[in-house]
Amino acid sequence: MKAKLAYRLRPLLACLIVVVFTGVAFAESEPLRVFVSVLPQKTIVEKIGGAHTDVRSMVRPGYSPHTYDPTPRQIAALSKTDLYVRSGVPFEHAWMARIRSANPDMQILDPRSGMDQRLMKHGAHGDDGEEAGRDDNVDRHHGGTSSEGRDPHIWTSPLLVVQMAANIRDKLTELDPAHAQDYARNYDAFAAELEALDRDIRLLVRDLPNRSFMVFHPAWGYFADTYGLIQVPIEKEGKEPGARALAALIEQAKRQDVKAIFVQPQFSAQSAEQVARAIGGRVVHIDPLSADYADNLRAVAQQIAEAAQE
Ligand code: ZN
Repeated sequence: MKAKLAYRLRPLLACLIVVVFTGVAFAESEPLRVFVSVLPQKTIVEKIGGAHTDVRSMVRPGYSPHTYDPTPRQIAALSKTDLYVRSGVPFEHAWMARIRSANPDMQILDPRSGMDQRLMKHGAHGDDGEEAGRDDNVDRHHGGTSSEGRDPHIWTSPLLVVQMAANIRDKLTELDPAHAQDYARNYDAFAAELEALDRDIRLLVRDLPNRSFMVFHPAWGYFADTYGLIQVPIEKEGKEPGARALAALIEQAKRQDVKAIFVQPQFSAQSAEQVARAIGGRVVHIDPLSADYADNLRAVAQQIAEAAQE
């Protein structure tokens, strides 16, 4: 008797399931389509947006944000994009106008707004000076130093990422108010994660006898500023140093008792290897553009700490 009833109810049940699923499909809107400039930002937006966002990075893994050219397919994908989150990396200077015109309806967020940005010596990011002048006339007309530009590598400091994340949360909320609670909750969890990361890094580098670290490309300025370290760049005007500059760097490395030279995969390690050979040190690979944001930054702090204690 029971089995017979269940059998009769089966079509009804099937209808019910269809109705419920259709309801879910209608209630759950399409995810916001977001483009970012570099991979760490993809991770940051996904932390806040979760399943409500579909995030892609313009600069793909292994490419340099200094020289990147978006593919025609990426430019075409912008026509279906709701939000572009820029970061001020050098390829944007050449491409931002085209990115904007690919989809005039797309919103563009600069998550650095309202933040103190450190300056970077001209050359390290060739045209940042121009960018600063173009973006913000104050720099040009009120005595801004034209030989320096803003350092775009803000994400290397977790506490600054907390601020960037708040700007991203606010923008996602504005574009998709139905999920405001999720964005707020995700932001709170992510901020707590970043604060824990900051505490871990502080502990790792607190008592280091040697506060200087030598890098090829100076991508770690915010990291160094936050944790009381000194970043010594090898790169000169965005290029490998000449013989005389290299000799001076080797002297400096010896004087400062440097044991490791840090390089990143997007740049040549050639002059770093020369310095390392001359001082009997080693070349260490770290990556400011890793998508695995928190674990990578923790590992970088660990490697800087190890090199300083050798
Ligand atoms: Zn860079």
